[in-house]
Amino acid sequence: MPTTNDRRPTTGPSTRIGYGFDSHEFQPGIPLKIGGIALAHDKGLGGHSDGDVLLHAITDALLGAVAAPDIGALFPPSDPKWKGADSVVFLREALKRVRDAGYGVANMDASLILAAPKIGPHAVAIRTRVSQLLGVQADCVGLKAKTPEGLSLDNAAVAHVVVLLEKLATSKKTRKKKRS
Ligand code: MG
Repeated sequence: MPTTNDRRPTTGPSTRIGYGFDSHEFQPGIPLKIGGIALAHDKGLGGHSDGDVLLHAITDALLGAVAAPDIGALFPPSDPKWKGADSVVFLREALKRVRDAGYGVANMDASLILAAPKIGPHAVAIRTRVSQLLGVQADCVGLKAKTPEGLSLDNAAVAHVVVLLEKLATSKKTRKKKRS
């Protein structure tokens, strides 16, 4: 049985925190995607990619946690390559950078701020999809939705995300290799 000590990293912090923020404007006649899930609504979120405000904030939180360049630097809106892109591509690149830095996702928490549609009926689907993308259990993905009371933001969706990363245990094989 591995003990807690066996999982301790040899270098660097054992945990890292990341924070991400994003906002997109609603536009009529385009599909709405939040957290990798298509939601039925008369408006979607505009943007160069698919406008998935939640995946963008998660991506930036992951990148920030390992001090990597942010989503705009890695996937510039000026690059036609990312026009209409599935935001899962951005998230996967951020996860790769997290793993390359020697970390895994422990948990994340998000607040979505939008007037409509109601997120409650879709919360389980979104949390399940995000947990699959992050490779964590669904109970490691928090999601709250708020309406923008007093913010005059009825035509926008905003996402705030925090993630916690844990240093991955170095395998015995790798440790042996490093010593020799
Ligand atoms: Mg964005």
